[in-house]
Amino acid sequence: MGGAKKAIGLYVHLPFCLHRCRYCDFVSLDVARWRAEERRRLWTRYVEAVVREAGWYARRSPEWEVESVYLGGGTPTLLPLDLFERLLGALRSFWPWREDVEVTVEANPGTLSQRKLAGLRRLGVNRLSLGAQSLEDGLLRFLGRRHSAAQVKEAVALARAAGWTNLSLDLIFAVPGQTLKSWQRTLEEAVALEPEHLSLYSLSLEAGTELGRLLREKKIAPCPDDLDAEMYRWAVVYLAGRGYRRYEISNFARPGREARHNLRYWKNEEYLGLGAGAWGYLDGTRYGNARRLPDYLARLEGAGRPAAEPPLLDRGRPQLSPAVVERECLVGARRWWEGAILSLRLAEGIARPLFRERYGVDVVEEEPEAVQELVQCGLLEVTPEWIRLSDRGFLLANQVFCRLLPG
Ligand code: SF4
Repeated sequence: MGGAKKAIGLYVHLPFCLHRCRYCDFVSLDVARWRAEERRRLWTRYVEAVVREAGWYARRSPEWEVESVYLGGGTPTLLPLDLFERLLGALRSFWPWREDVEVTVEANPGTLSQRKLAGLRRLGVNRLSLGAQSLEDGLLRFLGRRHSAAQVKEAVALARAAGWTNLSLDLIFAVPGQTLKSWQRTLEEAVALEPEHLSLYSLSLEAGTELGRLLREKKIAPCPDDLDAEMYRWAVVYLAGRGYRRYEISNFARPGREARHNLRYWKNEEYLGLGAGAWGYLDGTRYGNARRLPDYLARLEGAGRPAAEPPLLDRGRPQLSPAVVERECLVGARRWWEGAILSLRLAEGIARPLFRERYGVDVVEEEPEAVQELVQCGLLEVTPEWIRLSDRGFLLANQVFCRLLPG
C-alpha cells in the first residue's frame, strides 16, 4: 500500500418505483406492472451494470478512499437485500472505506420491513433518508404519493426499533391549496418524530410532470410566492427553536448530523455518480450518465466498450465511463461562479481566503458592482473573511446567484 489517498463520495442511482408521483421529474422506471421474476431479472442486471461501471473507475483511480455513499432513487429500498449486499460488497472491494463512512439510503414509507431495515444496517448502511413529503393524507394524495401519514410514522418507528440512529425526513411545502396552518401542523408532527435531519423543499411544478400539466391547463394554481416565503420563514424559526440548525437553504440538522455526502456537493468536492441518469463531478468536470435504462445497460454490457464516444461539450480531463453521455469541464469564470453559488447555499457561506486559495479569485473583486448592489438590497452580508446570504437572501437565493453571474 502506498501513495496518498484521495477522499471521494459515491452516488448510486437506483431508478425504480412502484408508481409515478404527480410532481416527479426524476429518472425512474415504474415497475408496478412487472411480474416479480421480471423485476428481479432487471434489478440483478442493473446492479451488475453498476458494479461494472464502478470497476471501470476503480481500475483508473485506485487511490480513492470512500468517505460517503449515497444510494438514491427512485425507491432504492425496493431492491432485495442480496442485491444491496452484492452492490455494497463490490464497492467495498474496489476502494477502502473510511472507518466513519456515512452510507445513506433513500426510502419511501410503505417499502420498509423490520427485516430489510435490520439487513441494511448489517450491511453498513447507517443513515436513512425517508421521503415523507407530508403528514396530511389529503396532500399526500394530491402529490400522488402512495403512502399515508400513518405509514410515515410506522416507518420511523420501525427504523428506530431496528437501531437506526441517523434519520432524515424529506418534506414538501408550498403545495397548491396548502395553508400556513397545515404546513405548521405537518412540521410540528415531523419534529415530534425526532428525526436527526430535515430537508424541506418548496414544491416546483415542472413541465413534463402531471402537476405541471395541470398547471399549464390552469386546473391548479401555484402557491402564492408570499405564502411560500412565509412557510419557509416560519420553518426556519420554528426549527431553530427545536434544535435544528439551517446549514443549507433546504436542510436542517441537529448538531453533528449534517448530511456529509450532500456537503460534498455544496463544497464542490468530487463525487462519483454511478447508474442511469446519475451525475458526477471529477477533476473539474461535471458529467451525466445515459438516462434511459436500456441505453445505460447497453453502454455497460457486452464488450464493456462504449457504443459511441460520449460527446465532448468541452475538453474534459478525467476518463469517464462508457455510460457518460454529457460532460462539461468547468474552467475560468464558470468554475469560480459555480463554486461561489454552491458555497452560498450553505449557512457558513464563502470563506474568502480559502476561496481565493482554491479558485484564484475573490468574488468581491471579480463582481464589485453586483456584490455592492446585493449588499445594499440586504441580500448579501460581506466581511473581509466571509460572504453569506442574509435571511432575506436565503429566500431570494436564485436571484442572488443570477446577479453574481460573471458579465
Ligand atoms: S418515489 Fe420519488 S422517484 Fe419515485 S416517482 Fe415518487 S418522487 Fe419520483
